[in-house]
Amino acid sequence: MIEFQDVTKVYPGSVVALDGVSFTVGEGELVVLIGPSGCGKTTALKTVNRLVDPTGGRVLVDGQDIARMDPVQLRRGIGYVIQQIGLFPHMTIAENVALVPRLKEWPVSRRRARVEELLDLVGLPPATFRDRYPRELSGGQQQRVGVARALAGDPAIVLMDEPFGAVDPMIRRQLQEEMRKIQATIRKTILFVTHDISEAFLLGDRIGIMKGGHLLQMAAPELLLRQPADGFVADFVGRDGMWRKLDYLRVQDVSLPAPCSGSSDWTPAMLAAVPNLPETMLLKDALPLIAGERATELPVVDEAGRLTGVVSHSSLTALFSELVHRSFPSNPPGD
Ligand code: ADP
Ligand code: MG
Repeated sequence: MIEFQDVTKVYPGSVVALDGVSFTVGEGELVVLIGPSGCGKTTALKTVNRLVDPTGGRVLVDGQDIARMDPVQLRRGIGYVIQQIGLFPHMTIAENVALVPRLKEWPVSRRRARVEELLDLVGLPPATFRDRYPRELSGGQQQRVGVARALAGDPAIVLMDEPFGAVDPMIRRQLQEEMRKIQATIRKTILFVTHDISEAFLLGDRIGIMKGGHLLQMAAPELLLRQPADGFVADFVGRDGMWRKLDYLRVQDVSLPAPCSGSSDWTPAMLAAVPNLPETMLLKDALPLIAGERATELPVVDEAGRLTGVVSHSSLTALFSELVHRSFPSNPPGD
């Protein structure tokens, strides 16, 4: 749906914002571009709706070179959400959302139905919010309106430039979760810019890591973790490399001593009734066994088959939250 072919952008004053960037975004795919401030993310996004024209290379939308398309026409088919959402202050929420449908001259009844549908989709009950003005809404609510507005004209493509960057972390998390649900329903082709790695992992079907105008690697999240193209990518996606250690953890690394587990003593009959996990078994091999059991914990045994501890669902949950916390320390908002 979107194809970057060796795209370069040199701004006046010889600032190289993009340097030979090539990638594609498939139909219905959500691709995230991430990287430090100034690495060219916004420039890349703006080449898609021609707010910026490349100095080299081409951008294709649906197979067509957009340099030969009318920018106004092009933009009507592309939703755009930015951090400073830019709702029109003198228009109601309904009027803001209906902007593109009005430009497209949809009949009033269809416009009204679309506004209702979208406000529902982004979690703003239409009866309450339709007739309010932007200043009567919180930042998070305004951001939701921004998303609704971008989707209103039923665009094939949506561009999102740090859409949740300006709202506080709790609300941001909530908006990210909702965005994920929305995308699962609407399946738009989305190019999404962020500098928040946990946001990238939550939302991206694929993630592109940028640095200094270059696209270093674009891949599915788990592939970035397992096969980072270089040290910068490795550093960026899993700051202390904890995730890769998952491959090497053994059952004994997460085993709790049986008496501490709070369960009743394991009788031989109980041991015989469930899978026993050898201490030295790789955790990744043990996970399917643990996940497949209805019991909340499984016994860990030594070479002689003696009980040495247990692995419980709750100890694994604790381990995973620890890993996530260490790998994705909270990101500072905005750049
Ligand atoms: P990001 O979104 O990753 O922070 P940008 O795409 O906004 O990065 O900017 C990339 C580089 O291009 C930066 O060095 C920035 O200063 C420069 N830049 C962006 N817009 C312009 C412009 N209109 N004129 C000149 N330089 C610009
Ligand atoms: Mg930017």
